[in-house]
Amino acid sequence: MRYQSTRGGVSGISFKDAVLMGLADDGGLLLPETIPTLSEGDIEALGRLAYPELAFQIISLYAGDVPSADLKSLIDRSYATFTHPDVTPLAHQDGIYILELFHGPTLAFKDVALQFLGNLFEYLLAERDQKMNILGATSGDTGSAAIAGVRGKQNINIFILHPHGKVSPIQELQMTTVTDANVFNLAVEGTFDDAQAIVKEIFGDVAFKNQYALGAVNSINWARVLAQVVYYFYAFGRVQRLTGCREVSFSVPTGNFGDIFAGYIARRMGLPIHQLILATNENNILARFVRDGDYSLGEVVATLSPSMDIQIASNFERYLFYLHGEDGNAVIQAMADFRQQGRLEFTVTQQERVREDFAALSVSNEQTLDTIRSFHEQTGYVLDPHTAVGVRAARELSGGECPVVCLATAHPAKFGDAVRQAISKDPKRPASLEGIEDRPKRSEIIPAEVNAVRDFLVKNAC
Ligand SMILES: *Cc1c(COP(=O)(O)O)cnc(C)c1O
Repeated sequence: MRYQSTRGGVSGISFKDAVLMGLADDGGLLLPETIPTLSEGDIEALGRLAYPELAFQIISLYAGDVPSADLKSLIDRSYATFTHPDVTPLAHQDGIYILELFHGPTLAFKDVALQFLGNLFEYLLAERDQKMNILGATSGDTGSAAIAGVRGKQNINIFILHPHGKVSPIQELQMTTVTDANVFNLAVEGTFDDAQAIVKEIFGDVAFKNQYALGAVNSINWARVLAQVVYYFYAFGRVQRLTGCREVSFSVPTGNFGDIFAGYIARRMGLPIHQLILATNENNILARFVRDGDYSLGEVVATLSPSMDIQIASNFERYLFYLHGEDGNAVIQAMADFRQQGRLEFTVTQQERVREDFAALSVSNEQTLDTIRSFHEQTGYVLDPHTAVGVRAARELSGGECPVVCLATAHPAKFGDAVRQAISKDPKRPASLEGIEDRPKRSEIIPAEVNAVRDFLVKNAC
């Protein structure tokens, strides 16, 4: 499989190069040049496989340049860190299937992709005798999952900036209690936006970026999307065997559009997805886009589902590429228009196509709490606030003609405050959080200044 950029300036590159490139050199995002399609029989057979075996079959289609035995070992190691034997088990509650994607080391779905990406980076760097210094800013989930993905790995150091005192206590502990020598937590004396701005500025210095082999782990890496395609097939297979259905709908709590884009790819591969439901919180640019063709920037507001408090979804450009008939110039134009005007216009035909691809709903804080509460009353099952957004959208939008799978993107214990607000009790803590407050911690408080972070990097880069 060869890869191309959404902006047309890169093409014909291998999977390995695409993974190490991350963002395409022309500023676009990488996509496979063709999407392999599977027959009904293939899909049924895949649906019977255990998770790591299924992951191997799907990922192999896109990673032909990684020898099979190596790929298999990378995948097996990536999912051995999950605490549930099914990796992503499916629970059935009150007519809805809940796909639990939170059994990895940091209790959020990002582990599914980042456990794999960490191993893949280590493998590719060793092969090329290269090093990488990962730099990123986080408001919570991504940072801890990225750290868990690369801790203790050879030839990789990771530097994660978080706003000092402004991430939830659990999220902070999940980062700062990782004391491996290659992990550097920087608690920035400022906001998340300050931290993000520092990272952007450092990446913008191309000479510095190259000298220190800076790498990113944000959701624009194709390998992350690819790893997420797997669980759509997994859930479909399980539900099909339970119900005999021909089609399944999915509801996806959405922020950066990575998770739902993986579902879009799964459907293009032939997976019979009936509705693909895009569920947002009050940061609803994507829901407005699907429902009314209104893709216009709003202010980011803080909600109970903070990992979805995003207005500019970084993976959206991948969908734009398909919406514009795979025309890189049209994507360049659209991205420039958006930068200038903060909004995009779509033709009637494009809007119709979007509504064939997705259904969407924006869910308020109040509705989120109400959904956690009512679901708990009816089933005894505790939803985290992100998952609750998806469940609410599924309830309102799915017609009931085929089963619905809601992606459960975080363990409720990770967002205890919201859960407590809804049901007046604390979610049960999984084993990985037991005693986390008492573990040794390592982090560095640093002023919100580019030079301070740059100096720290220079001193500690691998
Ligand atoms: C990152 C995240 C999301 C949003 O996923 P995207 O791929 O960015 O759309 C939803 N829920 C949780 C818990 C997350 O950490």
